[in-house]
Amino acid sequence: MEPLDRSTIWPYEAGEPGAFFYQRYLHPTGVEAESVLGELDGGHALLFSSGMGAVTSVILALLEPGGRVALARDAYYGVERLFRTEFARWGVELVEFDQTGPPPERVQLVWLETPSNPLLSFPDLAATAETAHAQGARVVVDATAATPVLLRPLEHGADVVVHSATKYLGGHSDVLLGVTVSRSEDDHRRLLEFRGHAGVVAAPDPAWLLLRGLQTLTLRVERQSASALELARRLQAHPAVERVRYPGLGDAQAARYMQGGFGGLLSFDVAGGAEAARSVETSTRAIKNATSLGGVQSVLETRHRWEGDRVPESLVRLSVGLEGVEELWADLEQALHSGGSVTISP
Ligand SMILES: *Cc1c(COP(=O)(O)O)cnc(C)c1O
Repeated sequence: MEPLDRSTIWPYEAGEPGAFFYQRYLHPTGVEAESVLGELDGGHALLFSSGMGAVTSVILALLEPGGRVALARDAYYGVERLFRTEFARWGVELVEFDQTGPPPERVQLVWLETPSNPLLSFPDLAATAETAHAQGARVVVDATAATPVLLRPLEHGADVVVHSATKYLGGHSDVLLGVTVSRSEDDHRRLLEFRGHAGVVAAPDPAWLLLRGLQTLTLRVERQSASALELARRLQAHPAVERVRYPGLGDAQAARYMQGGFGGLLSFDVAGGAEAARSVETSTRAIKNATSLGGVQSVLETRHRWEGDRVPESLVRLSVGLEGVEELWADLEQALHSGGSVTISP
């Protein structure tokens, strides 16, 4: 493994700063992780202190003051909240739209999420990028749930890819990190400059853990995708489940753009509403009742508690980990029985 260098300063060479001189600008562990991430997504990668740190940096570094942004209506709720609570104060105008259709006009930035968390919608990337570029807008794709193993948005017209590396890239629920991957060197340089000014840089320790996690990324995502697809199919056939949201259940755009699987994230609506869903989330044993996604340990939760009216009260989000699929299914089945709202005949 790469050595972990925690230095915040490095000596000048013959009176001049070398590549590394102060950790806020660049440090060797971060640069090493960025070279792997850049290769994975096919662009210029930068690490940030969290996914939201990366999101904030993209908007402040690449958007002009008072700009208009088109945001996928079901993009990660933290992104919408950031616009409404922070950027609105700085005159940024937000236009929300259904990302399965064309983006609105007269915007400078189009923000997509592939697939969206937790409603799992999927845009036509190439068509959206074409429409956006025709009006001079940049396209940013939050591909946290897909990972570069299954989708490389820069190959389909995106200008910048964003990841919460806290999820699949780190993969073990022990680092908080964000990533941007830019197609153009200009955007990369602007983001690097902004990161140094603002100080939203990743520390060496989480960067090192990310490097370790990345070694098993492909294996983890393949296994999680296979298990999630199997669970999605079984949930769809279960009488206590009203609806399953998973891109692998016939989403034509996801099938067109994702390769090798549809990821480890799915949501299902429990018959019987809020109470039945709460009962399911508190009745699993192998699957922990916790937030977040992308770890080796499966977790599930009702999302209504965080996102209010954006999601149905009956929606349970499940992040599939690396446990055996039969063990996970047995756990889900007994939890669905506990809901008590549906009588299941033998
Ligand atoms: C978690 C998440 C984020 C935010 O990332 P943090 O690392 O928690 O700051 C952004 N987008 C998506 C899709 C996420 O799931």
